[in-house]
Amino acid sequence: IHIENLSKCYGKGDNAVHALKNVTMKVSPGEVVGLIGPSGSGKSTLLKCLGAIIEPTTGRMTLGNDVIYDDGWKVRDLRALRRDKIGFVFQAPYLIPFLDVTDNVALLPMLAGVPNTQAREKALELLKALDVQHRARAMPSQLSGGEQQRVAIARGLVNRPPVILADEPTAPLDSERAMAVIRILNNMAHKFETAIIVVTHDEKIIPTFKRIYNIRDGVTYEEEGEGRAFD
Ligand code: ADP
Ligand code: ADP
Repeated sequence: IHIENLSKCYGKGDNAVHALKNVTMKVSPGEVVGLIGPSGSGKSTLLKCLGAIIEPTTGRMTLGNDVIYDDGWKVRDLRALRRDKIGFVFQAPYLIPFLDVTDNVALLPMLAGVPNTQAREKALELLKALDVQHRARAMPSQLSGGEQQRVAIARGLVNRPPVILADEPTAPLDSERAMAVIRILNNMAHKFETAIIVVTHDEKIIPTFKRIYNIRDGVTYEEEGEGRAFD
């Protein structure tokens, strides 16, 4: 995913808020990068632009060879783009309490029209990759916090999106579980050639990134990370 000179302005005239100013960012398949910055710096706005939830005011974004935005022009079906190309992982797992683990993961492909059996097969494959297949028939309330988060990651990955946007995915977890989540995201990036962007404040995981975008007042600064081993 590649953005060039992306700007986002909320409001007009005297009330205008320039939330993003000429942001440039490139994340390659298989790469996991950190996005850090203080509250109000523009992280959510950038994540929403990357996730095709809001449109930038100006600038360009491409995904592989596909142009998504280009200076006010945008791809027609942002919803389809969001569904097929972007996986979201949030701070809280947000699992659906009355569906078992498999169906929580299979729901997105089912809603997209994949036959139930096939959707469940896809779900099981991901649950296996995340080492929670033994919980496939459990209900979310029966899982530990770490297991729930792995199921949420499986759900984010089930459509094999080329891009994963993770918003504070380790915030509620202890050090060991946070590292496990980072290890998993790195493995998944590698295995499925996914580009992963992790918004975080978490001091435990920041040293694991090889590359970091630091955002201040809507301007991003690319930095080399420590790239510390996480296992
Ligand atoms: P962060 O996620 O880093 O806290 P945000 O992207 O939420 O930062 O906000 C960046 C700036 O844009 C802030 O000044 C915020 O008040 C402003 N902002 C965010 N969303 C809106 C909106 N919908 N309307 C107007 N201003 C907004
Ligand atoms: P976050 O935890 O993502 O930083 P916030 O609490 O800053 O969220 O914002 C919650 C929601 O309100 C977001 O959708 C954000 O875009 C919107 N928002 C933030 N600042 C403003 C603002 N100044 N005016 C209008 N909406 C805003």
